Amino acid sequence: MSIRAAVMQRPGEITVETFPRPATDAHSLLLQICEVGVCGSDRHMYLGHANVRFPLIPGHEMVGTVVERGTAIEDRMAVLGGQVKVGDRVTVVPSSRPCGKCWYCLHVPHKPALCMSRTIYGFRTCTEPPHLFGAFAEFMAVHAHSWVFKIPDSLPPDRVVLIEPAAVATRAVERALGVGIPHIGEGYGIGKRIVVAGAGPIGVLVAAVLRSTGAGLIVVTDAVESRLDLARKMGADETLNITRTSSEERAARIRELTDGVGADVVIECAGVPAAFLESLQLARRGGRVVELGHYTDSGEVPVRPHQVCQKDLDVLGCWSYPPMQFQTAMDFLARTPVPVERMITHRMAIQDLKPAIEMLAQPGVMKVVLTPGR
Ligand SMILES: [Zn+2]
Ligand SMILES: [Zn+2]
Repeated sequence: MSIRAAVMQRPGEITVETFPRPATDAHSLLLQICEVGVCGSDRHMYLGHANVRFPLIPGHEMVGTVVERGTAIEDRMAVLGGQVKVGDRVTVVPSSRPCGKCWYCLHVPHKPALCMSRTIYGFRTCTEPPHLFGAFAEFMAVHAHSWVFKIPDSLPPDRVVLIEPAAVATRAVERALGVGIPHIGEGYGIGKRIVVAGAGPIGVLVAAVLRSTGAGLIVVTDAVESRLDLARKMGADETLNITRTSSEERAARIRELTDGVGADVVIECAGVPAAFLESLQLARRGGRVVELGHYTDSGEVPVRPHQVCQKDLDVLGCWSYPPMQFQTAMDFLARTPVPVERMITHRMAIQDLKPAIEMLAQPGVMKVVLTPGR
């Protein structure tokens, strides 16, 4: 039996190729992919912004059904949520387990995303067997160093494909949490006033997480009105269209809403260099900026370092998330009253990856989900 997969040969070129069905050993799984979200980082990879080795099968926001399982997967794999049997629905953390031996694993073990020898599903070349390291495929080969989460029945089926982006969004909000006594007023907490720059899938999920965790005021900025509409449905109190307001007008409005001081926290989700600059401007003195959007390198912007210094600003990078963030994401998706599933605007077939990626920036398009199994 041959397996079809969408292969990115190089930036701008995607073909559908067939691969042999991989053999499953004692420590691996074979997953039939049911749903997989198309991510902004897939688009950046397509545009040549990602430092990866081609050809590769992209796709890292996957939901699948176990069709084959090794006899001793639990020996090496991290399997969470109960025993995994053939026929079970699972999701897999894109990153492999940290090696435990590199400098970062030894010195910064609480940030496993910094491990130097991890591999990532959807970002790894498909030249070596078993080839199927990405989810824009009918099947994916799950190796022994994976984190596999069984999907609980409590999770609404139309939200399951949002687990990975919800892991990104919950981690970004947790990144901004104040440490220790809330009274000192640092970072994120109940009642805080937040700006989210960018209303793409991650931006609106961040807004939803903020709404579900007690934010006081949530203001979302973007250039596309339909995205801002969705942001309001996801919990934004106010939105600012960057094509209809100047940077000064936005800063003035944020000050107006915040006793004249600016936002406690700004979370940059646009992945546009100018949005990072504006985030530094919108944060109040003693505030915090979380840079989440630039997972790939989309360029540079001139920064005035004095502003960071004078504001006594905390500027925090947010790189991926620890694997257990999937549990946080599932708990959030199971319980949030925000209708997060409404961000899924399109469902397409696996051979449509190229048009799916190309339409991502268009108005009216938010999360596109491919359904290879159908
Ligand atoms: Zn993603
Ligand atoms: Zn390591």
